[in-house]
Amino acid sequence: MTQIKKVAVIGAGTMGGGIAAHCINAGLQVVLLDTVPSSLTPDEEQRGLTLASKEVRNRFVKAGLERIKNARPAALFDPQSIAKIVIGNVEDDLALIADADWIVEAIIEQLEPKRALMEKIEQVRKPGSIVSSNTSGIPIAAIAAGRSEDFRRHFLGTHFFNPPRYLYLLEVIPTPDTDPDVVATISRFADVTLGKGVVVCKDRPNFIGNRIFSYDIATTVGYALRNGYTVEEVDSLTGELIGRPKTATFRLLDLVGIDVMLHVQRNLYEALPDDEEREALKIAPEIEALAAKGWLGNKSGVGFYKEVKGASGREFWHLNLQTMEHEPPKKPRFDLVGKARKIENLPERLRFLIDNADTDRAGVFIRETMLRTLAYAARRIPEISDSIVDIDRAMRWGFSHQLGPFEVWDTLGVRKTAERMRERDIAIAPWVEEMLAKGGESFYQRDNGRVVGVWNPIESRYVEYTPPEGVLSLDDLRAQGREVARNHSASLIDLGDGVLCFEFHAKVNAIDPLITEMGWKALELLQEDRWVGMVIGNQSSDFCAGVNLGVVLMGVMGGKPEESAKFAKGTQDLFFHFRTCPKPIVAAPYGRVLGGGVEVCLAAARRVAAAETYMGLVELGVGLIPAWGGCKEFVRRHVSPHVKTPGADPLPYLQQAFETIAMAKVSELGAVQAKQLGYLMDDDRIVMNRERLVAEAKKEVLLMVAEGYTPVPPEGEPVYAIGRRGIAAVNAMVYGMRQGGYISDYDMTLARSLAYVMCGGDLTQPQWVTEQYFLDLEFEQASQLIQQPKTQERIMAILQTGKPLRN
Ligand code: NAD
Repeated sequence: MTQIKKVAVIGAGTMGGGIAAHCINAGLQVVLLDTVPSSLTPDEEQRGLTLASKEVRNRFVKAGLERIKNARPAALFDPQSIAKIVIGNVEDDLALIADADWIVEAIIEQLEPKRALMEKIEQVRKPGSIVSSNTSGIPIAAIAAGRSEDFRRHFLGTHFFNPPRYLYLLEVIPTPDTDPDVVATISRFADVTLGKGVVVCKDRPNFIGNRIFSYDIATTVGYALRNGYTVEEVDSLTGELIGRPKTATFRLLDLVGIDVMLHVQRNLYEALPDDEEREALKIAPEIEALAAKGWLGNKSGVGFYKEVKGASGREFWHLNLQTMEHEPPKKPRFDLVGKARKIENLPERLRFLIDNADTDRAGVFIRETMLRTLAYAARRIPEISDSIVDIDRAMRWGFSHQLGPFEVWDTLGVRKTAERMRERDIAIAPWVEEMLAKGGESFYQRDNGRVVGVWNPIESRYVEYTPPEGVLSLDDLRAQGREVARNHSASLIDLGDGVLCFEFHAKVNAIDPLITEMGWKALELLQEDRWVGMVIGNQSSDFCAGVNLGVVLMGVMGGKPEESAKFAKGTQDLFFHFRTCPKPIVAAPYGRVLGGGVEVCLAAARRVAAAETYMGLVELGVGLIPAWGGCKEFVRRHVSPHVKTPGADPLPYLQQAFETIAMAKVSELGAVQAKQLGYLMDDDRIVMNRERLVAEAKKEVLLMVAEGYTPVPPEGEPVYAIGRRGIAAVNAMVYGMRQGGYISDYDMTLARSLAYVMCGGDLTQPQWVTEQYFLDLEFEQASQLIQQPKTQERIMAILQTGKPLRN
């Protein structure tokens, strides 16, 4: 297998720039090329430049670099790394791609320029290098037509979604000529190195994701227009209610761009003369009219929605599709929806909606559109894919649907749903009929919730489902009876090979007394010989939102402060015991990791973090300070080591550590920034593909065991307390910020409390103290702060509005 170390991206536009940036994120060497301008800008002319000037010749690629730099959300993990991208143009610098292992084309969406570029690439590429196109609509085979057999063997489609860093799905499209080894190489590389969810597609118009998405959108919009549903109604029925993102239908169109969607739709219509639903893909004149007015969605400021300054602040007015005027929000109410919203479990909710659809027009809408999309997806087999798993994945990974079409159909009952389709003359794929005739009642076979078999439409039988290699699913392990202990908020799961997993599964994974209780249970189990170490990890949308503030506040305001204190102290103790555990503990953070979530990670012996990890000790925002070892660990890790150099001044390090916590800095750019901020250590591993995180953390535990793990002594390690001199210096800084109006009086109180803890209290002389000494200070200060009305107001604000209050 070719090892991909150097990547050449051609076309520095939206996609090429995004792909190049993400390859830099993955630590690869990257060359980015674009085309050469054919005329000078007035400014270039004025400056005496000519078409031969390098600056002019690289104008497009430089503009691409600027776009990468300014991309929001950020394209790069580290803004500095932009300097690593080697740039050039396709006329002068083609030699730069000669030694690239993978050359990816992301130029204008036209066949001829793509073909011409392939001809040029063929002349310089090294043997064995892989060449791919990022086209979204042009047949892959046509792009490589006319090239040598060797070139075609190494050529395929790699269809990223925008923005490439954040969208998980990557469609890989081999042609009949592509060497299967090349497909395997690029798939593995994209999965492990780039962190993408790979789905292999057939070379059919718009592949899997956009093909089904386009049909779904066209059907939904068409049905709404024909039956008088409003934009607002449709969005309230096609979003979270049915397991899809909040953007639902029209908000999503505004986000994608109405012109972009029209272009895709038009393309599909042209490219699919034989599609039995071709007419459904035709664009409604109302939508054409919108684009003709220049109402393209978010990028033009007006689309299906328009932001209006109303009496109560910002309002989003929706378009009346009849009058083509925007109207104030009406917040549609449907009885059926009201009842459905009370059902938390998505499959149950979907069944309820469809089974009771006739009771209300909301139900009718959902049923009529959903049945058509499900049937269409099934009829696309074997045209776009032979695998129901791949189609489901494409919709989950590319469009954030919680369930793919076959999972939804299973949920609703395959036979019952097919019956409903028949009643409406919706054509059912022959292979589905065959499955039902053979007595197959579901697409997936499950054992205790875990998928064990899946219907293979080509072989017309169930085949064993093999989970992806290198991925551990906690739910699957649970279904296999590997849950060792469980309460409402947390579980202990046997990951195999003697590794235990401490899993949070509370709401937003906020730490509550039940999580703490399970933590103690974990330590108890770790004393047994059968366990060699532990992973602290979970698989939900975010690792941990911090302490459960509701529990804290209820204790204090509900007249049971001793309970709150017991929980706070108990969790602090627990984390310290994690730190000094004789067996290795590895934390596996991902997504949002706030407050106590960071502290549990700091307590672990090592961290294996997902690349997209946003960490921060944000306690000051709610009027507290980190009190579960966060302050202590920052001093121990980021200040104490510097004192060991004779003559070194620890003060600047203290100030920096203090600032990170005082300003509640969060690594908004991901795990790389979390290292820069000191939440992760330099030797902590970063894993690109979040699906692999728990398995990688387990590997790390086993590696530490194999290396002979040296535990931290039971009393911890000495920590340097700067004392009074530090407090004075930090407080001067804080005072300056107050004078400058950057912080409030109460912020200053909090900052002083933090300074006091981080300096080890009011010591006249600097000295080395124990970890417990710092922990006691943390607890003492936090206990005082929680009594303060302003802290309680801050906590209340977060609980009620989700937004921080600066009082
Ligand atoms: P874009 O217009 O933003 O960028 C295209 C870039 O290619 C421009 O910088 C242009 O100067 C350059 N270019 C044009 N002809 C060239 C040539 N002959 N040699 C070198 N560079 C050349 O387009 P984009 O949105 O980045 O799309 C690029 C490709 O990716 C298209 O095939 C598109 O269909 C596909 N795609 C786009 C998206 C998306 O959401 N934008 C998603 C998936 C796939």
